[in-house]
Amino acid sequence: MTEENFDAIVIGAGMAGNAAAYMMASRGLKVLQLERGEYPGSKNVQGAIMYSNMLEKIIPDFRDDAPLERHLVEQRFWMMDDTSHIGMQYRSDDFNESNPNRYTVIRAQFDKWFSRKVREAGATVLCETTVTELARDTDGTVIGVRTDRAGDVILADVVVLAEGVNGLLGTRAGLRETPKPENVALAVKEMHFLPEEVIDQRFGLKANEGCVIEAAGTISRSMAGLAFLYTNKESISIGIGCLVSDFAATMESPYVLLESFKNHPSIQPLIAGSEVKEYAAHLIPEGGYKAIPQLFGNGWVVVGDAAQLNNAVHREGSNLAMTSGRLAGEAILRVKKRGHPMTEENLALYKSMLDKSFVIKDLRKYKDMPALLHTNSRNFFTTYPQLLSQAAQNFMRVDSTPKIDKERATMAAFIKARSRWGLVSDALRLAFAWR
Ligand SMILES: Cc1cc2nc3c(=O)[nH]c(=O)nc-3n(C[C@H](O)[C@H](O)[C@H](O)COP(=O)(O)OP(=O)(O)OC[C@H]3O[C@@H](n4cnc5c(N)ncnc54)[C@H](O)[C@@H]3O)c2cc1C
Repeated sequence: MTEENFDAIVIGAGMAGNAAAYMMASRGLKVLQLERGEYPGSKNVQGAIMYSNMLEKIIPDFRDDAPLERHLVEQRFWMMDDTSHIGMQYRSDDFNESNPNRYTVIRAQFDKWFSRKVREAGATVLCETTVTELARDTDGTVIGVRTDRAGDVILADVVVLAEGVNGLLGTRAGLRETPKPENVALAVKEMHFLPEEVIDQRFGLKANEGCVIEAAGTISRSMAGLAFLYTNKESISIGIGCLVSDFAATMESPYVLLESFKNHPSIQPLIAGSEVKEYAAHLIPEGGYKAIPQLFGNGWVVVGDAAQLNNAVHREGSNLAMTSGRLAGEAILRVKKRGHPMTEENLALYKSMLDKSFVIKDLRKYKDMPALLHTNSRNFFTTYPQLLSQAAQNFMRVDSTPKIDKERATMAAFIKARSRWGLVSDALRLAFAWR
């Protein structure tokens, strides 16, 4: 292990760590990045939709050689009961632009590519190296790290914690609390392989176009949760996630939920005949704005999932990770350029830059949403999807019942299930949380 003193050590080579390491190394700082996985991406799980705008701010010409799967032209949002789905769908040829806005990616390949860019920018990247402890001086200032490799403390002016949602180092060091079970979802995901032309045909796609489906409803068995299906070039990523506290309370198994999602009559034909090659499980921070911990201190900053920066309402995480990593890198560069020490006071710059960005503005906007969905999960994830499905079926099925009687029956079903006051109160609470 090296005896050098670094400008910055970055822990983790996921989206946030790579963004931070790239920003600092490409501007001339001496950066060491440590990753416990065999290679960057080997431990990482994502759906995965990657958002171009946030990567362009780091590597503008990423499209030249990044491993991208399909660019998205269509998004479907489905509300499901056990036999049906009712939904909204948006597809536009405008998304067939020269610089597409969103792509599906496979994280194992994407993170390897991103890490190569970090190396080319001049950082030293060590894989199969787990940081075991933050080293601190007598004042508590973080001065470096200890790893599972033989050797002394590796010193740095600042340590960037990009260790992902579990964030054991930060919690062990007392920099933040362990995420609460009601603030993290457990997601399971499978990769289903199919020939490219079969995927094109089933989703009505051509020439690298992609489609994603996001679905909620009885599939999560009254727990707060979401299922997804994303098209890659020659595979389909399919998964489901629910809050850990809900899994603990209901004793439901994530694997059983995924099986029933796959066997749902609206999903099964889309993956029929596929070969399953990968299965993964991972946590997702879902507590939103209220779960964000202290983001900086003497000698350290925390970025990405480790900082709980994840927008569960819009299902965005990697873009918040890349942006927080980039801004942390930029803040460190500015403090360094001024010749100032990496104190809590000076690193507060990172937080003020983050506050001005979409990251905190979006999370603040939806700050009441996670608690609302969690505490009312039975209504939002079972009762309403069932009622909507019944209403749609009543509307579509043509029989001799007069339309006025159909409308009355639908209204009566809603009132029976939730009462007038219940309906008004749910609508108001939803509107208030969305404001
Ligand atoms: C099933 C699923 C689907 C998702 N889908 C999407 C999506 O479609 N779009 C989207 O934007 N986001 C999605 N997300 C969220 C997204 O994956 C995360 O927000 C993003 O990966 C966070 O990046 P990160 O760098 O903070 O953490 P990670 O990507 O988790 O990276 C952390 C890294 O730190 C390393 N590490 C941890 N501890 C140590 C240690 N002690 N020493 C050394 N290395 C260490 C890990 O090995 C890992 O490589 C999804 C998440 C899941 C689980």
